Amino acid sequence: MWQAQVRVDLDAIRHNVATLRDLLAPGTRLMTVVKADAYGHGMLPVARAAVQAGTDWLGVATVDEALTLRDAGVTAPVLAWLHSPDRPLHEAIERDVDLSAASTDTLREITQSARKVKKAAKVHLKIDTGLSRNGAAQKDWPALLERAAKAEGDGYAEVRAVWSHLACADEPGHPSIARQLAEFHDALEVAERHGIRPQLRHLANSAATLTLPETHFDLVRVGLSTYGLSPIPGQATRLKAAMSVHARVALVKAVPVGAGVSYGHTYKTLKDTTLALVPLGYGDGVPRAASSRGPVWLAGKVRRIVGRVCMDQVVVDCGDDEVRAGDEAVLFGAGAAGEPTADDWALACDTINYEIVTRMGSERTPRIYV
Ligand code: PLP
Repeated sequence: MWQAQVRVDLDAIRHNVATLRDLLAPGTRLMTVVKADAYGHGMLPVARAAVQAGTDWLGVATVDEALTLRDAGVTAPVLAWLHSPDRPLHEAIERDVDLSAASTDTLREITQSARKVKKAAKVHLKIDTGLSRNGAAQKDWPALLERAAKAEGDGYAEVRAVWSHLACADEPGHPSIARQLAEFHDALEVAERHGIRPQLRHLANSAATLTLPETHFDLVRVGLSTYGLSPIPGQATRLKAAMSVHARVALVKAVPVGAGVSYGHTYKTLKDTTLALVPLGYGDGVPRAASSRGPVWLAGKVRRIVGRVCMDQVVVDCGDDEVRAGDEAVLFGAGAAGEPTADDWALACDTINYEIVTRMGSERTPRIYV
C-alpha cells in the first residue's frame, strides 16, 4: 500500500503537446523544454511522451541533461543552453546536441571541442535583448557574429539559430515585450549583415506561445504549458495539468480548543476539532511557506494545513468532519474533482506554479506514471 505519491499523467502531456502544436502556424516548430527533470515530472518519460505527440525539439539547460536524453536513446534534436567555462563539450557535439553560445569565450570552447572531434558543432547564437541574464550583450553581438562566421568558414560550426529569451511575456502588454521584439529583429538584421542567416530564429516561451503569435518565428520553446499550467495566473487554456500529489492520512485525532499545533505552536485550534496527519513535508518538496496556508483536499472538501509544515508531515484541520486514517488526501491536481491546483498552492505560498511542481517528489515519494 502506498503512503505518498506524485502522479504524472502522460496522456495530459501528450494532449498538451498536441494542443500547443495547434497554436502554431504551419512550419513553426515546437521545442518541449524538459530541463530540471521536466519541471519535476520526470525528464525521460516526458521527453518520450512529447516526441510521441509530435514535438520537434527538446530543450534543456545543461549538457548533462542533454546527454542523459541521448543515453536513454532519445534521438530528437536537443538544445542545451547553459554551460560553465571548461565544461567539456566534445561529447555533446559528437552526439548531436545543439549548443548555445552567448559569448565569444563560449563559442571558442565549442569550436575547440569541435576541432577535437572533427565535426561541426551545431550552434544557436544567443543575444540578450533585455532580460539581462544569458545572451551576448548588444555591444558584443557583432564580435560574436564575426567569430561564428569564421568558425562556419573553418568547418567547425554550423550556426543553426539566433535566439533570445523574454523577460515579461507573462505580463500581457508589458512594455518590455515590444522592446525585446524590436531588439531581436535588429539583432537578426545585424546577423544577416555578417553573413549569418540561420534556419531557426526563436524567442517565445510558454506565455509568448499562448498569447503573442508575432514572437513565434520558426520555433517556440515551451516548458510550463507542456505540464498543463499557464504562466499567466487565471488564464483559461485547453491544457490539462499533468501532476497531482497524493498521500494517505497516517493518523487522525481529536484535540481541544486552544491546542498548539506543530513546531513553534504558530497555530492554536479555534475550537475542539479533529486533526489529520498527512505524510508529506518539506523533505518531499512541500514548501514550508504553506504553513497554516496550504490547501489540501480531504474527505470531499478543501481544508487547510494548520501549523508549520514539517520535514515529513503536515497537519490538516478537519473540524467536525469524519476523517479516517488511510483516507486519501490530495495536495493539488487538475482541479476537476474540486481539489486544489498548483496555481492555488502558488498563491498560498507566495510563489509561482513553476516552483510548486518542480520541487515536488523525493526518493521516498515516487513519481507514478498514469
Ligand atoms: N527558454 C528558456 C531559455 C528557458 O530558460 C525556459 C524556462 O525557464 C523556457 C524557454 C521555457 O519557459 P516556460 O516554462 O515559461 O515555457
